[in-house]
Order: sequence, then C-alpha cells, then structure tokens
Amino acid sequence: MEILYKSTRGGESGVPASRAVLEGLACDGGLFVPEKLPVLDVPMEKLAGMSYQDLAYEVMSRFLTDYTEEELRGCIARAYDEKFDTPAIAPLRKAGGAYFLELFHGATIAFKDMALSILPHLMTTAAKKNQVKNEIVILTATSGDTGKAAMAGFADVPGTKIIVFYPKDGVSPVQERQMVTQKGENTYVVAIRGNFDDAQTGVKKMFGDAGLERDLDRAGYQFSSANSINIGRLVPQVAYYVYAYAQLVKQGEISRGETINVTVPTGNFGNILAAYYAKQMGLPIGKLICASNDNKVLYDFFRTGVYDKNREFILTSSPSMDILVSSNLERLIYRIAGEDAAKTRGLMESLSGKGVYEITEDMKQKLTDFYGNYASEEEVSETIAKLYKEDHYVIDTHTAVAACVLEKYRRETGDGTKTVLASTASPYKFARSVLHAIDGKRFDGMTDLEQIDALKEVSGVEVPGAIEEIRSAPVRHDAVADVDGMEAAVRKILGLN
Ligand SMILES: *Cc1c(COP(=O)(O)O)cnc(C)c1O
Repeated sequence: MEILYKSTRGGESGVPASRAVLEGLACDGGLFVPEKLPVLDVPMEKLAGMSYQDLAYEVMSRFLTDYTEEELRGCIARAYDEKFDTPAIAPLRKAGGAYFLELFHGATIAFKDMALSILPHLMTTAAKKNQVKNEIVILTATSGDTGKAAMAGFADVPGTKIIVFYPKDGVSPVQERQMVTQKGENTYVVAIRGNFDDAQTGVKKMFGDAGLERDLDRAGYQFSSANSINIGRLVPQVAYYVYAYAQLVKQGEISRGETINVTVPTGNFGNILAAYYAKQMGLPIGKLICASNDNKVLYDFFRTGVYDKNREFILTSSPSMDILVSSNLERLIYRIAGEDAAKTRGLMESLSGKGVYEITEDMKQKLTDFYGNYASEEEVSETIAKLYKEDHYVIDTHTAVAACVLEKYRRETGDGTKTVLASTASPYKFARSVLHAIDGKRFDGMTDLEQIDALKEVSGVEVPGAIEEIRSAPVRHDAVADVDGMEAAVRKILGLN
C-alpha cells in the first residue's frame, strides 16, 4: 500500500515520502503527516527474531513506500553500524520496576542519534530520486543534543552543508564542547544570544522567507530541516518502540499481545509521537506517559486543554527538555481535530500570534491515550539517587524526569502495567548533575574531566568514545550572533549577498 503525505495545515497533499523528507516543513508552515497510518502487518513472532536493522526495515518500509528495498536497506545499514557501541543498537535494561530502553549508544550518546544517523542517508537518497541539483543546506536550531547529533550524521556527507544554532547559555558544558569541536568541512555552528525558542523561531522564519529562498537557489542551494518535524526523523523512531516490544516478547518478559505502557521524557513531542504512531500501527501500547520538567507546558495542556507558552522559561538540569513550543504536538492536534486542517491552522495561528490556544471538549476526549505529569529539579535528583542506591543503575537527568513521572502515574492510578521507559541520554553527558544527585558534597568541587572519571568509578560503566574524544579535540567553531542576526550569519556562511 502506497503511503502519501499531507500538510497539517491543508496546503499540500499527495506528497511521496521522499519529497516530504526533502522538504522537511510543508510550504504552508504545516507538518507532513501520513494520509493514512500504515498497519504493522508482520507477526510479532517474526519481529522478535529479527536484528535491529531488519526490524527497522519492516517498520520504516511501511511509511517510506517510495524508497526501494535496496535504497532503504542501504540507508539502514549505513546508519546503524559500528557508530553504535552495542550490536543491539537500543538495548533494554530492567531496573526500578521498568524497562529502560537505552537510546544513547550512538555517536553523540543521546537518543537523537537514533534518527539523525539515518536522516542524511534518507535525504541524499531522496535528492537523487527527485533529481535535485542544488546542494542541501540543513538549518537547525538545537537545545543541545539535536545539533551535535545532526552534525555527526551530516559531517562530510557529499552534497550537504549543515548550519546549527544553539542558545549560548542554554546547554551543558559537555554539550557546548561537543558542538564547538565538531569536525567536517561542511559543518557550521553559531551560538545565539537568546534561548532555544528564539533560535527555533529564527530558523522557522528563514524557512518561510521567499526572498532568501530565491537567493539560495541562485547560488545553487536549498534548505532542508533536520529538526524533529521532519518525517525522516519521526519514522526511524517508531522502529525502536516496536523493537522494544519484540525484545520483551523474545526475553519472555511479556506474552504476545500483552499491553505495555510507554513513558517518554518529552520536549518537542517527537519521541512520544513516534510511540503514538507505533500504537496506531497496532503495537499493543496502553498509556503514553508524557513526562515534563519544570517547563511543564505539556502537563498543563493535558490537564486543561489549554496550551499556553506565555510563562517563564526555566533553565533546568534537563536542558534538552527546556522547551515551551513543542513543535510535533501539531501532528497530534491535527489528529484529534479529526484531520481538520483549517481548525489546526487556526489553533497554530493563535499560538504564534497570542502564544496560547484552547482545544475543544471534543478534542480533549480524544486525549485519553495520554497521561501527563512533571518532575521538579529536586524530584529529578531524588530519582537518580534512589535508582542508584536500590539498583546500582545510573541514569541521566532527562531519563530521571521520566522515571519520576512514571512513579507518580503508578501512585495516582494504581496501574501496574509493564512499562518501557525511553532512556534518552547517557549519564556521562550530564555527569555534574548526576553525581550531585548521587552524592553532592563529594563531587561538587571537581572539574568536568575529573567528574567523568568519578562517574566511571560510581557507575562501573566504561567512558563512551564520544566523551573521550572531546577531551582532546580542538575548538573549530566560535561564531556568536544576536537573534536578529541569524539570517546575516547564514548569508555570510553561504556567500550570499
Ligand atoms: C531531545 C531530547 C529529549 C526530548 O525529546 P523530544 O522528541 O523533543 O520530545 C529528551 N531527552 C533528551 C536527552 C533529548 O536529547
């Protein structure tokens, strides 16, 4: 069955997958969604016996129907290889009454690698299929992890350039160091004097700027997006939820057909939306538990039906979730609006104009698949310490937000359904916060590098290659810009006037 894509705002339809991957954002500012969600028509028995790569093919081929089998298998093989430090790619670890799905075994030790290691290949394959002559310029705003993972994926991929904007004071020291040391002749990094939402708004504006598009085309370039709005990011993420389920069946932890819950530490709503799509495809998922940090705009939304970004932006120890506009939520809004593009457009215009919208009672009724809650900074810290003390398992701050919210959900509802918890970053990426949680007094005075060694001792987990690398790598990027200087920075990098 051929799957075509359409915009959540009604401006485009009948778009083949490869073109949606190339375009990123639809031309009307909407997000591409499948016109029909495919069905997972492979028996679980069969999936349970598959490697990560073969299973990913089964899932992704249901969505990306205009890629040939050879093309798609080629993309998968180039993405999920030795860049990952385990052949399982996404191993499950049972601890603290849940199954932690470790999505951080790739090049940058955070879950963004799961999608960003394959997106460049999906994109360059799509460019060939669609006879694109221009060089593809990836423009990305990052709250810390996306930018690095995108650069790691695109570095020195022929026919591409990548420009990353990050909030100067909104990422961890390790994240910043990872970005400014990025290798690759086609990678560019610009720090912004502003927060993530400023950076994301600036990028969105450039994508919608017809004058800039003309100038790019004249110079032989065209923009594309590696942000989590691209369906080429979303589709690979559906695969690991199916993989987690298949592994649980294989290991005898659940029986075939048994319902599981999924808990996801959420920022832009991409990861949890992938779990929702997995459920829509037929994977037996009950509740989708959406975990927020102190920036709890999603928690408030699920509780009240009002999405309101007019609030203080709080810097937390889980910076990749410090987000007030969760872009991927638009896809869920569209779905619960009964795929009504005009209604979706109205709500999104209200969000960009007034910073707030309210869904109808009817739409609210359709949110019962979801549960939302949040964890305070203190609770995150307590959760890390507790899991370490009880199970000797060290988790990062983002994963801890999810573990804490899962506890709250269970206490509130008494629902003891087995749960897969998306573990989104290696604790090494946030060593200072993690060590402080475990035993603040002992580790607080150490330098960042000393902390890496201390964490190795505490956790018994080897230091990942990605961390070893930044200890010695030279700084290659030092550009800084104001929010209203973002376009000028892009023009300078690409030599446009
Ligand atoms: C990006 C990120 C998240 C949030 O994922 P979304 O798909 O944006 O909701 C959570 N944890 C980490 C470590 C991340 O990098």
